[in-house]
Amino acid sequence: QQKERATLLEANGYASKLYRYVLRNTEAGKPAMDYLRSRGFTDKLIEEFGIGYAPSRWDTLTQALQRNGFDPEEMERGGLLLKRHEGDGYVDRFRDRVMFPIHSGDGRIIAFAGRLMSAGQPKYMNSPETPLFNKSRTLYRLREARGAIRKTKQVVLFEGYVDVIKAWSAGVENGVATMGTALTAEHAAVLRRFADEAIVCYDGDNAGQAAAYKSLPLLEEAGFRVRIALLPPGMDPDEFIGEHGAEAFVREIVEGAVSAVKFQLIYLRKSHILLEDDGKIRYLREAVKLVARRDSPTERELILRELSQEFGVSLDALKQEAADIRRQEK
Ligand code: ATP
Ligand code: MN
Ligand code: MN
Ligand code: MN
Repeated sequence: QQKERATLLEANGYASKLYRYVLRNTEAGKPAMDYLRSRGFTDKLIEEFGIGYAPSRWDTLTQALQRNGFDPEEMERGGLLLKRHEGDGYVDRFRDRVMFPIHSGDGRIIAFAGRLMSAGQPKYMNSPETPLFNKSRTLYRLREARGAIRKTKQVVLFEGYVDVIKAWSAGVENGVATMGTALTAEHAAVLRRFADEAIVCYDGDNAGQAAAYKSLPLLEEAGFRVRIALLPPGMDPDEFIGEHGAEAFVREIVEGAVSAVKFQLIYLRKSHILLEDDGKIRYLREAVKLVARRDSPTERELILRELSQEFGVSLDALKQEAADIRRQEK
């Protein structure tokens, strides 16, 4: 068991070296390099993040691993190779993909994410769960971001690997991402060891906003103070930085992140029609319910005051309603 882990780590290290070499030094890697350049990846970023390229041939890595004495069956369990559907033998799992290595807490490569350079499915392919790689615990870049997270007491959560990378180049060094899966309580517990505040910076599309909404209770139950960064509709952090620059991203998006309850109210608003009294009343009732769940009396009063001004309802009425809800929910 321990021995297999060591072998798999060694194989991942070897594969990463091969992927990096192909990207930097071969003709086959040129389209991948062009692709990365067109997405704004500098040499420095490619180096810092250990990015490589898995060539399109069926068995480049398979052959190389075998030449170096690795057992293909073991390599299949480790997620680098696949059994051929027909006939005997093995083929490379990752082909014609830009490769992002994923590190463990002690800096070894435990998995890869590979991105297609053209439209096609799946856009990202991750290593499967292996003896080294558990998706619901692993966070992309945690090892490297840990120092910055500790120092700022703050972690920024992204949806995508590229978002983490571009945010890093914009000066946000405390960013991590999940492995293309939803945030889990395990992730939250791991991060809570280093930070008090979590800033959720997911994509500005519906999927991203829904995922941010779902992450709130999870993060709050882990004891985080949570804020949500709001991106323009349909934009992700990478696209925002490309369009508006690093400074705007840090100042407007990250530093301008809103409180959890503010975000919940914005989210709630999307499903209510506020032109009619009916819709307004329904919205207000739901909104007050959200506010009533906040522990801090100051926060409750602040938000209720804003609602009272916006809807022309007395603060007393809203406070009364919030108090009723708090009593009921106890
Ligand atoms: P890019 O900028 O390269 O297009 P992205 O990060 O913006 O990628 P999204 O479509 O927003 O991509 O997806 C967010 C994240 O979800 C990805 O970074 C990846 O981790 C994961 N993901 C996306 N598509 C897939 C897929 N088909 N299979 C597995 N994970 C995926
Ligand atoms: Mn997305
Ligand atoms: Mn995205
Ligand atoms: Mn993107």
